[in-house]
Amino acid sequence: MNQNYEELMSKIEKAQAFQEALSLFEWDNQTLAPKMAMDNTAKTIGLLSNEFFSVMVNDRVKELIYLLSEEKEAETLTFNQKAIVKQLKKTFDQLEKIPPAEYQAYSELTAKANSIWAKAKEEKNFDAYKDTLGEIISYQKKFASYRQTGDQKLYDILLDDFEEGFTMEMLDQFFDKMKTAIIPLVKKISEKQDFIKRDFLNQSFSVEQQKKFSKEVAAYVGFDFDKGVIAESAHPFTLNLHNKDVRITTHYLEQNLESAIFSTIHECGHGIYEMNIADELTQTPVGGGTSMGVHESQSRFFENVIGRSEAFWVPLYEKLQAAFPGQLDAVSREDFVAAMNYSKPGLIRTEADELTYSLHVLIRYEIEKMIFADQVTVEELPALWNQKYQEYLGLTPSHDGEGVLQDIHWAGGSFGYFPSYALGSAIAAQIYDYMKSKIDVEDCLVKGNLKPIEAFLKEHIHQYGATKNTKELLLAMSGEAFNSDYYIAYLTDKYTKLYQL
Ligand SMILES: [Zn+2]
Repeated sequence: MNQNYEELMSKIEKAQAFQEALSLFEWDNQTLAPKMAMDNTAKTIGLLSNEFFSVMVNDRVKELIYLLSEEKEAETLTFNQKAIVKQLKKTFDQLEKIPPAEYQAYSELTAKANSIWAKAKEEKNFDAYKDTLGEIISYQKKFASYRQTGDQKLYDILLDDFEEGFTMEMLDQFFDKMKTAIIPLVKKISEKQDFIKRDFLNQSFSVEQQKKFSKEVAAYVGFDFDKGVIAESAHPFTLNLHNKDVRITTHYLEQNLESAIFSTIHECGHGIYEMNIADELTQTPVGGGTSMGVHESQSRFFENVIGRSEAFWVPLYEKLQAAFPGQLDAVSREDFVAAMNYSKPGLIRTEADELTYSLHVLIRYEIEKMIFADQVTVEELPALWNQKYQEYLGLTPSHDGEGVLQDIHWAGGSFGYFPSYALGSAIAAQIYDYMKSKIDVEDCLVKGNLKPIEAFLKEHIHQYGATKNTKELLLAMSGEAFNSDYYIAYLTDKYTKLYQL
């Protein structure tokens, strides 16, 4: 056993424990904590965060990480141990390059930015937010420039943080294909707007029954209630402490039956991924999902590829009808599934359907690229946003609240994050294509046996945690690198059939 590695791990274990405690506070904050708890609790969180940093970020830890990264030492490590050291070194290199005073000022800025953004959004007033946003962008440019090597582009550095190895060159290709194939498809579908009926969804659906049904569906898709819980929050999310404590939230809206069902299935996709990470990796720095894109691929695979398919509802639809007596009796399963796949361009990303969703991401990608190439000023963002919505989705926001102000991401300094959402869908389509060559997915769904599907995902994706990045996972799975053609083909095929184009 490598003694340096042992010493490093004893420190990391301690840091990990603080991290878990902090996560538990975060979970509590967003679900159950009383409104007035925050001020006092914040003190405790601050103390724990400081402890976390002092255990994690110090000269000895740094020394150990650099020692273990040397070839001679690395040779003595296993594959997983090497992955842990690599992950730690990446985090350290990032932290090291930013002067602490600047990082402190930036943290304070983004802490305030959240409420400034929320207020501006509510008041539909971009002017109230633009200076803060401008400052965040300046910091992001500066921080990225500290890590710049050679003629590397700033935005490529940010993209790599969320999806290792992905660059503008790859994403340009990906989004160009989307534009060529999907925009004409969206236009054709817009001309057949009345083709799919959704009137039956305009009813009240008992929240109690929705809860019962959502829980049933969660267990049905493989969410293990011995290792996980479901709570409620306004915006559904997944949070995991380790592979035997995975927490998801969902929300129940009386006037919207599909929201709870598909939010639950989506978060289950994230949750099942975390539950299936190997025991020897959990509670280590590579013990979570490998990237945003791969995480979204799992949630979207369950939500869209599986959950919105005809076959998925064969064993379930009668149960749904029975959960809401008299309300869905006149609706056939075919009509229900069609309604769940109804597509119509809208202004809000989070409410977008499967087909138009990636166009919302495309717009953000193009704008972020321009920001980091100094091709647009903060003042010009609302007009640029509106122009792109008109161009790609045929709609213009009536105010900035449903335009440039709609997403929280930029207020938190998350630039380069949005593409992961579209990549997630594309990765899901690629995995699905390969999965179909190995197992009869439709047959599994019709028979109500999802086990082989989960086993496939565990074998090729889940178990590895963050020891392999997106590219490595895909290559190891099918021998093929990331290829967005599967996604284009999947969407084209699905929507051409659905709308009989
Ligand atoms: Zn998600």
